[in-house]
Amino acid sequence: MIKVGIIRCEKNETRCPLTNCFKTMIETTQAFAGYDACMSAGVFTCRCPGDNVADMAKILKSKGAEAIHLCTCTFASKTQDGWDKAQGGFCPDIEKIAANITRASGLPCTLGTAHLPKDYTPVTFE
Ligand code: SF4
Repeated sequence: MIKVGIIRCEKNETRCPLTNCFKTMIETTQAFAGYDACMSAGVFTCRCPGDNVADMAKILKSKGAEAIHLCTCTFASKTQDGWDKAQGGFCPDIEKIAANITRASGLPCTLGTAHLPKDYTPVTFE
């Protein structure tokens, strides 16, 4: 059982209640498929320009998180043909955000939660 913290983007915070992020976490599918079992350590919301993620990652760690995932919508968009990474998502700096999270907390930070784009293998910063 691994405890996972999710950090979402403020640009989606009033439209998405993370339904499928939690569903796939519980089912250990999509970006959580590498874990044998998951439970949530909590959720935070990143706010531009993302300077708050280092403190959030440390707090999630103090609450038991062993890994952090950034929501798929931060780097991919929904299209007629499913989720697509080519046009990016809400955040142009998501890889820098992920690196900051790992640097600040020492925790692995994975790009992705639910509805992964086709042919995308989750990238983890360690
Ligand atoms: S820095 Fe990126 S992830 Fe954070 S709120 Fe801004 S766009 Fe969203």
